[in-house]
Amino acid sequence: MDLFGHLSAYDFGEVHFKHDKASGLKAIVAVHDSRLGPALGGCRFLPYDSDEDAIIDALRLARGMTYKAALARLPHGGGKSVLIRPKQHFDRVAMFRAFGNFIEDLRGHYITAEDSGTSLEDMEVIRTVTKHVTGVGPAHGGSGDPSPFTALGVRRGIEASVKYRMKRDSLDGIHVAVQGVGHVGYHLCKELHAQGAKISVADIDPLKAERAQREFGAVIVPLEQIFEIECDVIAPCALGSALNDTSIPRIKARIVAGAANNQLAQPRHGDDLHARGILYAPDYAINAGGLCNVAQEVIGYDAEKARDKTMKIFDRRFEISDRSEKTGTPTYRVADQLVEEKLAKISKSGVRAAAAQS
Ligand code: NAD
Repeated sequence: MDLFGHLSAYDFGEVHFKHDKASGLKAIVAVHDSRLGPALGGCRFLPYDSDEDAIIDALRLARGMTYKAALARLPHGGGKSVLIRPKQHFDRVAMFRAFGNFIEDLRGHYITAEDSGTSLEDMEVIRTVTKHVTGVGPAHGGSGDPSPFTALGVRRGIEASVKYRMKRDSLDGIHVAVQGVGHVGYHLCKELHAQGAKISVADIDPLKAERAQREFGAVIVPLEQIFEIECDVIAPCALGSALNDTSIPRIKARIVAGAANNQLAQPRHGDDLHARGILYAPDYAINAGGLCNVAQEVIGYDAEKARDKTMKIFDRRFEISDRSEKTGTPTYRVADQLVEEKLAKISKSGVRAAAAQS
């Protein structure tokens, strides 16, 4: 495996490895960039076909966190950890305690959180050996489930997009089609309903779609039709790569703004949306509410402050559209440019804290 080739491809950074024989822990901590502050990002616990797949996943995700934190003006760099889930029996508590010790060895350079395959209980185990962990339960001063904050940020991203494209100050009567009503999608429907929006939903789990119908009066749409219905906004809140060669030509909405990570199957799909006159809210620009919430936990949890930070996603979203229109650049590229300019500024000045807030 060409490890340094991969590091260079993802513009890294540093990577730490830990193998703890006693517990079976095989962990990778990828720190993409720490110019804005300690790297913050979740911990995945999944089976991988190869060590190389696990490393690439960590690199890719950590890089995404740098962009998300920088755009949300958080004083954090981007990091992610991956624990390779053993195929045979293992002691989960011993493994997460060993992982906590590994994080402690990094002395706050990387701060972990919940992600796919990990739970609040795992974070509690990590917390017994290190303080460099977020997403613990409210009973321990933590911020708990990040989904409501992620949904709030997405709602603000939708509001900014609607204001920009449709010149409307409210979501009252705006029709939003939500693909995936799991943790974030459910809370997004709640937010939209409270603002008077009309909602359509599709989910592979019929019970989740029915819950949105029951609680928010959502109309259930067949899975394959959610991208092609007549509506104002499409909100992809299921899996990545939802915006691709098949879905984009069918979109009738004027705006795409949702929670899912990596919505563009490839960067060129961001160009396709732009060429078709569809306003795309870059995913990491509007799904950072959960990150704002855990970042608040690092300095002492205060739900009001986390909420204020999340509400500002509206301003970032607006700034992106503004520059996109002035320069004719697709929104996904504008978001990347804003981050890269900011990081370049710190490299020159060496001043971290002020740059994080600007
Ligand atoms: P989740 O697993 O709780 O919800 C996803 C939902 O999508 C599920 O209900 C699932 O049944 C449904 N789904 C899957 N495939 C589908 C398909 N083809 N069509 C329709 N529905 C489908 O996950 P979540 O935590 O709500 O996260 C949703 C997305 O948002 C993910 O991409 C995640 O990475 C991203 N995200 C989540 C958070 C957070 O705070 N949870 C933060 C940032 C980004």
